[in-house]
Amino acid sequence: MILIDGKKAAAELRAELKQEVTELKGKYNKVPGLTVILIGDLTPSQIYVRNKEKSATEVGLKSEVIRYPDSVEEKTVLEKIKELNIDETVSGILVQLPLPKHIDKKKVIEAIDPSKDVDGFHPMNVGNLSSGYESSVPCTPLGCYLLIKKIEPNLNGKKAVMIGRSNLNGKPMTQLLLKENCTVTITHSKTKDLKAECLEADIIIAAVGIPELVRGDWVKKDTIVIDVGINKTDNGIVGDVHFDEVSKNAKALTPVPGGVGPMTIACLLKNTIECFKRSQI
Ligand code: NAD
Repeated sequence: MILIDGKKAAAELRAELKQEVTELKGKYNKVPGLTVILIGDLTPSQIYVRNKEKSATEVGLKSEVIRYPDSVEEKTVLEKIKELNIDETVSGILVQLPLPKHIDKKKVIEAIDPSKDVDGFHPMNVGNLSSGYESSVPCTPLGCYLLIKKIEPNLNGKKAVMIGRSNLNGKPMTQLLLKENCTVTITHSKTKDLKAECLEADIIIAAVGIPELVRGDWVKKDTIVIDVGINKTDNGIVGDVHFDEVSKNAKALTPVPGGVGPMTIACLLKNTIECFKRSQI
């Protein structure tokens, strides 16, 4: 079985991006800029943002974090986004989710200029992705896609089963697989026989949030299995896939941690650079 090393893949991607930033600096005499808005003091969000900032700086991007307390008014955040939308030094804007209850996530996402929407959550980017047009692609599915392509460059006609239909993971992932000519089945909490669906798959992507849901006997030989899940349990962090069981059958499998997670941040940097390049045309 191939253990898909997300840390290594992310380090390789960051090295490529660093090189690209150097070239862009030479060509345009400026570098792409990423601005993250962080509201409140939720520990996971603080950690994610710190890692994003560190990685952005490492590849040579201009990186900025704007912090607000939990009590910040929605209009203050919306006004800041308006300012960032017209700031030429800002290529990408990311508002770290989740937001406090009194702030409307939809309004915030829609306030971001789609050309600076590095998370790919703006309805315009969602529509562009599903229509097959150029768009920012949400970072986690983009990372999964790049990992799958490393194992199997030609996905033509492969049967892919997506477990989970979230806007963050499941839906954009299926669009990327469709673009590659996969036959895609989207499964979710109301799917009647998930095991039977999985047994048909050449590729399984699990983005559910249920520890070790996908068992060894759900996976036929030679399946590529991508585990997006991050679940805190008494035995530490585990994915949505039962690693020990599935590793006996799968052709390739991502570990948790060290699989999809590191690629997510690297893809955020990639998206920021893509937004910068498109803005220079
Ligand atoms: P979500 O809660 O928005 O969506 C979960 C999906 O799973 C839903 O579509 C639901 O229908 C489906 N589901 C629930 N129970 C099911 C069942 N029994 N069988 C089949 N489908 C079922 O979750 P999300 O935001 O997509 O995140 C999913 C997981 O991925 C979480 O563990 C999250 O922490 C993790 N995650 C990881 C990264 C990363 O970088 N690795 C990024 C984002 C999310």
